[in-house]
Amino acid sequence: MSGKIRFAPSPTGYLHEGHLLSALYVWAAAKKWNLKIHLRIEDHDQSRARPAYIEGIREDLAWLGFHYDSESIQSARNEIYKAALQKLEEKSLVYPCYCSRKQLLAENPQSETGEIVYQGKCFNVVGSRKSEVGSIDTVPHNLRFIVPDKVIDWHDLRLGDFHENPKLQCGDFPIRDRDNQWTYQFAACVDDIDENITHIVRGEDIRNSTARQIALMEVLGRTERPIYLHHPLIVDENNKKLSKRELAHSLRQDKEAGITPEMLFGRVCFKARLTESDTPITLVNAMSIIMERL
Ligand code: GLU
Ligand code: ZN
Repeated sequence: MSGKIRFAPSPTGYLHEGHLLSALYVWAAAKKWNLKIHLRIEDHDQSRARPAYIEGIREDLAWLGFHYDSESIQSARNEIYKAALQKLEEKSLVYPCYCSRKQLLAENPQSETGEIVYQGKCFNVVGSRKSEVGSIDTVPHNLRFIVPDKVIDWHDLRLGDFHENPKLQCGDFPIRDRDNQWTYQFAACVDDIDENITHIVRGEDIRNSTARQIALMEVLGRTERPIYLHHPLIVDENNKKLSKRELAHSLRQDKEAGITPEMLFGRVCFKARLTESDTPITLVNAMSIIMERL
């Protein structure tokens, strides 16, 4: 069998050490399982994406030696997202939500991870709103996907089995926001289907999104599930995630300061506790170290 894996950075800044660790996992997985590599630029949030960051991603990957087989960019795929939305609308699985951020916080409980669990307040208000304001399109609203109220059983190659009900994790979630931007959850799901992604390797910080993404993919007609692996993140001495300052420190700043890719691979593997010291290592060596753990 051959498949396809993706590396999916958001161009809201230049690549940092966290991206580098993710890329090492993705490229190591591709080598180990003989997968094609797809670069997906996740610029769904047009208010934060910048052309310089998009170009920066391509340049930095080339500089580091990460080559890929294909590429896509979300801002060019509006028609595909519209078609997927239509599919959901035909199944009556979408509704507009008029709640403000303040209301959302005040009126809904939060899950143990601190996420708002939307209780469905705006489900069924479309009719009354229509007569009130004429057209619902004139009132700012997001669009929510009605998640099935069922436990999704899924498996992570590293972390094992999960049994999660997205209704309890997040409730019906936005697929398009108040500014008419497609959300990460929606765009990524549609792309993973449309781009025939078979393997999803990404950071543990997004693990929580998996059950809801599976639910959405099922409704959109994806029959075979991707294989999932969520990798550990870089942590500091106190087991805390990379700080804002460290995340803001870009690989290209290092490059400009004369740091080599090998020095970065050594540093990132050490910080991710994959090696005993931060001595420079080659990309091939860094990938081998990770392949042993996959
Ligand atoms: N654009 C997301 C990020 O940068 C990628 C999420 C994913 O791999 O599904 O964190
Ligand atoms: Zn609402």
